[in-house]
Amino acid sequence: MSGVSTIGQPALSQSERAVLDRVRTDLYIAGEWRAASAGGTLAVEDPATGEALAQVADAQQDDALAALAAAADAQAEWAVHPPRERGEILRRAYEAIVAQADELALLMTLEMGKALAESRAEIAYAAEFFRWFSEEAVRIHGRYMVNTTGKGRILTMRQPVGPCVFVTPWNFPTAMGTRKIAPAIAAGCTMVVKPAKQTPLSMLALAQILQDAGLPGGVLNVITAKSAGGVIAPLLADPRTRKLSFTGSTEVGRTLIEQSAQQILRVSMELGGNAPFLVFEDADLDAAVEGALLAKMRNVGEACTAANRFHVHESVAEEFARRLAERMGALKVGRGTEPDVDVGPLIDEDQRAKVAELVGDAVDRGARLLLGGSPGLGPAHPAHPGYFFEPTVLADVPDDARLLREEIFGPVAPVATFTTEQEALAAANRTEYGLVAYVYTRDLSRAFRVCEGIETGMVGLNQGVVSNPAAPFGGVKQSGFGREGGFEGIGEYLETKYVAIGS
Ligand code: NAP
Repeated sequence: MSGVSTIGQPALSQSERAVLDRVRTDLYIAGEWRAASAGGTLAVEDPATGEALAQVADAQQDDALAALAAAADAQAEWAVHPPRERGEILRRAYEAIVAQADELALLMTLEMGKALAESRAEIAYAAEFFRWFSEEAVRIHGRYMVNTTGKGRILTMRQPVGPCVFVTPWNFPTAMGTRKIAPAIAAGCTMVVKPAKQTPLSMLALAQILQDAGLPGGVLNVITAKSAGGVIAPLLADPRTRKLSFTGSTEVGRTLIEQSAQQILRVSMELGGNAPFLVFEDADLDAAVEGALLAKMRNVGEACTAANRFHVHESVAEEFARRLAERMGALKVGRGTEPDVDVGPLIDEDQRAKVAELVGDAVDRGARLLLGGSPGLGPAHPAHPGYFFEPTVLADVPDDARLLREEIFGPVAPVATFTTEQEALAAANRTEYGLVAYVYTRDLSRAFRVCEGIETGMVGLNQGVVSNPAAPFGGVKQSGFGREGGFEGIGEYLETKYVAIGS
């Protein structure tokens, strides 16, 4: 049985209300805050209570095109803006985020639900992209070489791609934005950003920070909308757009790739995952359980990098599952703003219903429930509002259970067993996704064999978290393409031009 919060009544505190009241809720276009052209708004709710937090502008097609026009108008000047100054704007924004971290974290928890400590961690992670790319802005360079024939020279230069469209998800409302905005600013691109409709406030707060940091009007434009398709499709069909970067589900990503084909846009896709977590018989089991807790429970399990399924050697599976259930059962579930809460609610009722369905399917097929398994805070708090789901551990999960194949996006850990290394690798790769895998082993040769054989863009080797602004984040297969962060990240926003020089 998981620990539960004792408080949790819906009313917003004064400090929560004050944080909400400070956020601008209009559209941010051409350096100005303006209402949506049709005057409509969209409600943002607290997933811990279902209570309405704020109303933000509901952009229509006209607003989206105005945002793109602003980005297109600012592009030429921004492309030649001194790199050092582009970097310094990012650096000032980094410092402002760090200074306002507590307030930004509270805002994030209110609209997204995760515990305050997790929101603080995301704010720190998000800010690091600004710091990293403030340093990269001044390191964009080309190449000069003598032609292989000895006659003539080859010169390459790297130039900004041009106006970008960014679409971001609700699960990491700030970091999924800064991972795109920071390299685009550093590279000299302008942009239109559309955050998820459940969590627009964090992005609007970020726009304010960049405005205050001196980002010229039109470089960043933020639109919030009820109809994502209604504002994004016209932007992708417009020849002024040169690039789309999307983070979200594979299903929506596929639609957007199709729409991007019309203008042959440069595209970066950070899509869904189904991360396997492999524990070999020689693993340090203490470390594996700690890593599993992080890889599973970070962000209430609502992370593309979340360990979706645990494949554990049969000799240690029982002990691993029991110890993981103990650790997950000790986590305190409740409203993320309450002190000491570890696990907040899921984002909405659809997500909670999907998690419940996947757990039910596994149990029906013979999986053994070691912990949790129910929506809500558990039997002691049956009528609690909000979209909570108990931390859940399932053992003996059979191969045909849906949660081994589908992205769970919730606090549910299914444990299956394997006998041989080949079997483990085959199980890990038995998915159309390829974002990340986790591997626990103390055998160096095995570690290399498995890391090389696994079909993912990232591997956590004896480590439960891979996200790092200094490293290239991204997937293969249907988890997408392109890399965010690291030395690679800025390349997504640069074109290479080659000049052939006659002698
Ligand atoms: P989603 O439904 O695909 O939504 C993501 C974004 O796309 C939202 O801003 C959404 O707007 C927008 N959108 C939805 N339909 C659209 C359309 N027809 N045209 C244009 N935009 C559209 O995904 P989600 O549920 O928010 O996020 C969870 C998914 O994101 C998971 O699959 C997760 O694995 C993935 N993810 C991947 C990464 C990564 O780096 N690989 C990181 C984080 C999350 P609305 O909010 O208005 O619907």
